Amino acid sequence: PPGCLLFALLMLFNFLNRIKPSDFDYLKIIGKGSFGKVLLARHKENEQYYAVKVLQKKIILKKKEQKHIMAERSVLMKNIKHPFLVGLHYSFQTTDKLYFVLDYVNGGELFYHLQRERVFLEPRARFYAAEIASALGYLHSLHIVYRDLKPENILLDSQGHIVLTDFGLCKEGLEPNGTTTTFCGTPEYLAPEVLQKQAYDRTVDWWCLGSVLFEMLYGLPPFYSRNTAEMYSNILHMPLVLKPNVSNAGRDLLEGLLHKDRTKRLGSKDDFLEMKFHSFFSPINWDDLMAKKIMPPFIPTVTSPTDLRHFDPEFTHLPVSTSLCNTDNLHVTSSVREAAGAFPGFSYVKLSYILDSLHVK
Ligand code: AMP
Repeated sequence: PPGCLLFALLMLFNFLNRIKPSDFDYLKIIGKGSFGKVLLARHKENEQYYAVKVLQKKIILKKKEQKHIMAERSVLMKNIKHPFLVGLHYSFQTTDKLYFVLDYVNGGELFYHLQRERVFLEPRARFYAAEIASALGYLHSLHIVYRDLKPENILLDSQGHIVLTDFGLCKEGLEPNGTTTTFCGTPEYLAPEVLQKQAYDRTVDWWCLGSVLFEMLYGLPPFYSRNTAEMYSNILHMPLVLKPNVSNAGRDLLEGLLHKDRTKRLGSKDDFLEMKFHSFFSPINWDDLMAKKIMPPFIPTVTSPTDLRHFDPEFTHLPVSTSLCNTDNLHVTSSVREAAGAFPGFSYVKLSYILDSLHVK
């Protein structure tokens, strides 16, 4: 009935209006990205913990990256739901900042644990690689290339499962054979085609998976050099040398994933299916994996949501800026003004929250 619809619309309007920075208590800084910071926050009303990613519009505009950020939002909004991808609850904006309210993941970065242990044994590396691969395969099925798989974006939840964060550099709308040429990414895991600013496609993610797996098994990224120029040259020209302390299946997978020619790379034909049926993953039951029925090989020790032991003290000891809670900035500079208009239609509430507020399930 029209009355109901009107009521729902009113509630929606109310709800959209209601979400603002001051709805949260900001407890700690837990990380920093190139456009802003990530904070642990607690929703004042529902008392849930979230990771709130706050991005400065000014900085994004300076770097001419607003397209990426909008991509991040639309990627997160595409009703993306996967056991190993971070969930977005709300997004909203003030004149100078964009806010993403995400699941709070507190088992620490995968590479924080790797650094402590230097290398992982094969079954553990296989478990993480399989969870990452299934998330990448899922994104590819939605024509999304993650592209920016790097150590800082691979987190563990409190049970020890993988959670991929940071969709900031995802490329949307790539058809299976579509390519794109924007240069972005992290030096360590740059695929040859990205380094050479050539066209790339979803196979870039399989290169990154190979790099992550290599680092888990050997303790350093492939083609690593402390000298960045040398590392770039190694990525482009040096043949992959795999020491025999990894199983044949593991080395075969790495060779397939780290093929410099993306048209010959593992995954170039049948994408995720080529991982699924590779012998390295034969101990994995993929249905169980997706259902989180495989017992994680390592369970992070966290006592409570506020237990920050797995976060870098470099961040967690920083003071939380009070400016976060201002709904508006009093001293609006001209560049801020410019920035304010550049992100129309950004605010977003997860549908389930609207339904919750209407008591509809
Ligand atoms: P990002 O800008 O997404 O690369 O995030 C920077 C850092 O913040 C990451 O390396 C993580 O350590 C942390 N971080 C990002 N998202 C989350 C999250 N959802 N839960 C907990 N920590 C996060």
